Amino acid sequence: MILMNDFGLEPPELHQKMKLAAARVIDSGWYVLGGEVAAFENQWSSLCNIPFAIGVGNGMDAIEIALRSLGVGAGDEVITTPITAFPTVLAIYRAGAVPVLADIEPESGLLSMESVGRCISQKTKAIILVHLYGQLRSMDEWVSFCKKKNLFLIEDCAQAHLASFGGRIAGSFGEFGAYSFYPTKNLGAIGDAGALVTRSLDLANEAKMLRNYGQSVRYHHPLLGLNSRLDEIQAAMLLVKMRWLEEFTIRRRKIAKKYFDNISNPLVKLLKAPEGELEHVHHLFVVLCERREDLIRYLNSHNIESLIHYPIPIHKQESCANIIVDSDGLTNAEKHASMCLSIPCHPQMTDQDVVNVISVINSFK
Ligand SMILES: *Cc1c(COP(=O)(O)O)cnc(C)c1O
Repeated sequence: MILMNDFGLEPPELHQKMKLAAARVIDSGWYVLGGEVAAFENQWSSLCNIPFAIGVGNGMDAIEIALRSLGVGAGDEVITTPITAFPTVLAIYRAGAVPVLADIEPESGLLSMESVGRCISQKTKAIILVHLYGQLRSMDEWVSFCKKKNLFLIEDCAQAHLASFGGRIAGSFGEFGAYSFYPTKNLGAIGDAGALVTRSLDLANEAKMLRNYGQSVRYHHPLLGLNSRLDEIQAAMLLVKMRWLEEFTIRRRKIAKKYFDNISNPLVKLLKAPEGELEHVHHLFVVLCERREDLIRYLNSHNIESLIHYPIPIHKQESCANIIVDSDGLTNAEKHASMCLSIPCHPQMTDQDVVNVISVINSFK
């Protein structure tokens, strides 16, 4: 079976180094927010070329902490996309703010600036731009749009590790970039983990307090924070895995290029290819198909796993029945959700796997 992720196929040297690193943490006797976390924050910020990185418990908390560090909360509106992982929007609710959903561009699945424009009100404070599937697009336009409208820009980078635009890495454009290191992400821990990146020392300090009960120095709590600390084991795993990230990203790009060049079935449409190669890290490779259920079954019968990201747009979730949406509706998002399908694109796939996926998709009738 060609799986969506196959950690068992990762290089033995990587797993060996992870085991040694875990042993090092166990023997150290220090398990939460210690030297491993500090080293990870250092290395992640230098790899991203962004001055500050703050390790947190997970990607959803990273977004909540970003909003709260910026003072976005009760009564404030935050615009984002209905085609994202649920935590993007849940983090807005958790921060006490009001999510507003704009529509997407059909060619990329990314937020439409025109629709965002329609969603802006007196109460709008921030935009959460999701670098969906690993792609960065139109970042210059987004930065100037937010500046002109006086809105904070928060980048949800959970799918876009090391994606770059104009030489700048995801997370360096907005006030904050929020990363998840959930195991299936391009850089994954062996449990939950996340980080914020920012260019502002003040925002970094605020986020550091918020992740640890709002504590400044021991037993002093100027803020009402949360408990979202990164632990030493996860940081140690990330320090090891980070050394493979660039190589794995190159492999993802090679696989995606083969897909773009060779998938040619009129029943299966591809999203727009990235303009520059570095602008996409192919966390997911997504195709569009009107007969998605048939395609899933066909792939499965040829031992190819597939998944849907995402089958239910946020505004169709039971818990979000009253969510505010673009007055023109979210038709592109609804269409995308009904047609999108993610096919395997992970760095452990062999060239033969890639050839097989292409020929099975091309033979789908
Ligand atoms: C995974 C993901 C998150 C949340 O990350 P967790 O670490 O699971 O909390 C947020 N946004 C997007 C787009 C994601 O893919």
